[in-house]
This record gives sequence, structure tokens and C-alpha cells, in this order.
Amino acid sequence: MASRFARLVCTKCEATYEPDSRLNLCPVAGCAGSLFARYHAAPLDRDAVAGRPRSIWRWHELMPIVKPENIVSLGEGGTPLLRAERLGARAGFTDLWIKDESGNPTGSFKARGLSAAVSKAKELGLTAIALPTAGNAGGAAAAYAAKAGIACHVYMPRDTPRLFPLECERYGASVTLVDGLIDDCGKLVAARAKEQGWHDVSTLKEPYRVEGKKTMGYELAEDLGWELPDAIVYPTGGGTGLIGMCKAFDEMEELGWIGSARPRMIAVQAEGCAPIPKAFDAGKPVSERCADAHTYASGLRVPKAYADYLILRDVRASGGVAVAVSDDDMRAACDAIGAAEGLFIAPEGGAAWAAVQKLAAEGRLDRASRIVLFNTGSGFKYL
Ligand SMILES: *Cc1c(COP(=O)(O)O)cnc(C)c1O
Repeated sequence: MASRFARLVCTKCEATYEPDSRLNLCPVAGCAGSLFARYHAAPLDRDAVAGRPRSIWRWHELMPIVKPENIVSLGEGGTPLLRAERLGARAGFTDLWIKDESGNPTGSFKARGLSAAVSKAKELGLTAIALPTAGNAGGAAAAYAAKAGIACHVYMPRDTPRLFPLECERYGASVTLVDGLIDDCGKLVAARAKEQGWHDVSTLKEPYRVEGKKTMGYELAEDLGWELPDAIVYPTGGGTGLIGMCKAFDEMEELGWIGSARPRMIAVQAEGCAPIPKAFDAGKPVSERCADAHTYASGLRVPKAYADYLILRDVRASGGVAVAVSDDDMRAACDAIGAAEGLFIAPEGGAAWAAVQKLAAEGRLDRASRIVLFNTGSGFKYL
């Protein structure tokens, strides 16, 4: 049950690195691509995990933590995949599901990625992490850092709902509120981290958050009897989960756990911040920064994702689409899901349901297909 972590590989230039390096991005001059963990290929029985606890660490062989004692866990992952029968019936969908991530520690799926990243930071002997956040990543980083005994420095836009910085402070993190957007926070983190020797755990500027989030792909496959759905609808900010799930599908195919069929990956953003749908529609390989990014779904307020090239690549390769919805439609969708399914979802989850209805109305999504939409967090922090 040892980790099969073999090396880091650049997603742009394919340079490879030792698995125990402290690299953030590919150091090849002019590259700076995101790095992916790669694993030794050897047969592994997908049913061998069946008796293990439902957590992201159920997939330990395919996770980058070498020594189990370095795992920093608060019970992340293993979230329910719920059949949304009543919600679907109201709008003519017959095979609709919600992967509900709101029950994760700190109330969002950011727990998955930060459990992995903080565990690896511990394994590498790092003593301080820092990150920019639109809200939920900060809370998750702070919680796992607290559990690991590692210092945590969070940079957040000043207009993020008040509960987000409060939560980070409760976990003992130092919080800096910034007049600007998440990428402005990111620039400050990069500069301060260099000065202070902090480890920067910005989305896809380090290799391990994506490893935590890829476990959503493993869980989906297992829960659906190793048959992937027709479409996955994912509220996209930095894109970690979307990229991570596609990585998981490729890994599972290599292991012989699934075939070559893939779900259509549907990336959802807000009309007030839609760099990915814009680039998708324009046929471009990278996005353009959205200067006046605004939406109440703070997790989607990412004016330019660092790994936009991977998001766009994966959406296109899957035959998916990228689409933007309005904040009003998100609110209505949150109410609809609450009333039909009993879930108090985050606006980002509302965005996913709003997108499904929009695409079906435009004839771009079949109402009889198996659709999984992601509710990525709890609605409580946005009140
Ligand atoms: C961060 C976040 C997102 C976006 O996730 P990415 O994987 O970075 O695209 C969506 N919803 C919520 C609630 C978030 O906190």
C-alpha cells in the first residue's frame, strides 16, 4: 500500500524532476509550466480499496505522500453522490446527480487539495505556507496547516465575505486583506514568499493540490460502478478539480480500471468573470485576464487561471463546453436545489445547475444523459 509517486513532469515542456524536489513550477527558462505528479505503472486491483475508509487517502498508492505518518487529515473526501430525482424531474432531466462537496472539513472541496498540499509540505520539512485565495482555499489551508503545526499566510481580496477571513483567523493563520483581485493577492504572495522563505501553495503553481482534488474523479468512477457519466458540470475558478478529474480518468484508464470513454467536461463561470468561456468560444488556447471580475460566487472570481491552458485543453479534448451564467440565475438555482433536494449549496454549485438548464435549453446537453453536477461548497459562509 506504498505510494507509487515516481516523478514530477512539466505539463508544458515535459521535463521531469525528482519526486522529493521542492519545486513549485517548471524551472526550465521561459517555461514555468504546472507540474504533475506521475506514478509507477503496475497492476493495482480497483477493488482492493473497497474496505478502506472513505477519504482521499483511500487512494494512497496514487497519492504523492510517501510516508503515511505525514498525512494531515481532517476527514476530507468520500462525499456523497446524490441522485437529484426531484430537481431533475422538474426540468425534464432523467439521470441527474449531485456530487455534494459541502460536507468536507471547512465546508468546501478545497479541503481535498489542501490536505494533499499540506501533507506534502510536511513531508518535505517545510515550516510555512502562503497562498492567495478567493475564500475557501484560505480556510482549508489554514485548517490543515494548524493540524500540521505549519505557519499559514493567507492573502484575500478585502471584499470577500467576512466569514472567510474570520475562519482563517480562527485556525491561527495570518490574514492580509488586499485591495484587488485574487491575482493581485497572488503577486504579493509570490514576492513575500520569496523574501520570507514561505512555500507558495497557489492553485496549480505547486503540484499537489491537484492530486487531492483528482480524488473526486476516482470517487465518481467507483460510485457509478466504474462507468463515468456522460457529462460533468464543474464550477471553474482556477480549474484544479476539472484538471484533476481528467488526470484521474487517464490514470484509471492506464490502470485498466475504466475504458477510454470520457465525460464531457463542462466548465461553468459567472457572467461577471468568464475568461474561460470567452477563450473557449474564440477558439483560443489561453484566456485573457478579466479586469473587472465580479460575481457573488467568490470561488469563481478568478480573472485569469494560471493553468488556463490545461482547463481549455481538457474541456476541448472531452467534447465539453465552457459557459457563463448570471448571478441571478445562480441564486435561483440555489433556491431550486434547496427546495427540491434539501441541500444548502454554495453559489458556485448553483452556477452548475443554472448552466445545465441553459445548455439543455440551447440543445447543447441531452436531458436524458447522465449528468453529474458539482456542489463545491456549503452556502453558509456566503450569508
Ligand atoms: C475554489 C472554488 C471553486 C473553483 O474551484 P477550482 O478547482 O479552483 O476551479 C468552486 N467552488 C467553490 C465553492 C470554491 O471554493
